[in-house]
Amino acid sequence: RIVYVNGAFVPEEDAKISVFDRGFLFADGVYEVSTVLDGRLIDNPGHMARLERSLNELGMGSPVPVAEIPALMEELVARNGVAEGMVYLQVTRGAADRDFAFPKDATPSLVMFTQARSVADTAAARDGIKVISAPDMRWARRDIKTVQLLAPSMMKQKAKDAGADDAWMVEDGFVTEGTSNNAYIVTKAGSIVTRQLSTAILHGITRAAVLKLAREAQLKVEERPFTIAEAQDAAEAFYTSASSFVTPVVEIDGAKVGEGRPGPVAKRLRELYIEAARAEAG
Ligand code: PLP
Repeated sequence: RIVYVNGAFVPEEDAKISVFDRGFLFADGVYEVSTVLDGRLIDNPGHMARLERSLNELGMGSPVPVAEIPALMEELVARNGVAEGMVYLQVTRGAADRDFAFPKDATPSLVMFTQARSVADTAAARDGIKVISAPDMRWARRDIKTVQLLAPSMMKQKAKDAGADDAWMVEDGFVTEGTSNNAYIVTKAGSIVTRQLSTAILHGITRAAVLKLAREAQLKVEERPFTIAEAQDAAEAFYTSASSFVTPVVEIDGAKVGEGRPGPVAKRLRELYIEAARAEAG
């Protein structure tokens, strides 16, 4: 596999980053994951806008102007012949002597790689997935997409150990989001409910696209927090992310949601999202 590291496309075994890189020492870095469908990046302008915002929030530069990154991503996709999968990109503050304060003269690093895998047709989309709830023990700026992912990694592992697929994190009694996705329910009255944007959750690019499609389809959307009990009692539950689109959640803490099968709203939103993403990617 060819990866991109600071200006060069190289075989992965030749890629090098300093042990002094602050991404490695302090998780001082941000990332994006963009999905590839039919060999094309989907929803990528949104990911680039969020990258720019994450960098600004942390006072970090990019070694390459963000506007030039999509062309590099496309080249990486082409070089690796990826038809379906994802591009991961990470910007870190760069290498400097270890010190908590930001270095004045470090050059930021940009690293990108691809992962080929099915995204349109997956078992999770067909059958739905199971989640457990877990206390949200992440930091207070979850709107910044940083590489400090140990808390969600621990919760994802806890879910796997419990025979589930993911964890929905709970703070002050309400669901924030999944370990790497935004969380939704569909009420018995047919409203789509998802938590409003704040620093408590990541502002999902797929979330924005799916809510727009839902409103265009005349579905009712409520942006407000919900509890695990409300989710267990809902007609449907689902989550969204770049790499999973819209994925039905059929069980929460061992309780079936609705019939315990993927519901019609999640299925429809998934189809609408894939159709719109394909059309937009041309
Ligand atoms: N929430 C968290 C914590 C995430 O890590 C992600 C994606 O990785 C999402 C939500 C979904 O965001 P997006 O739709 O932009 O992939």
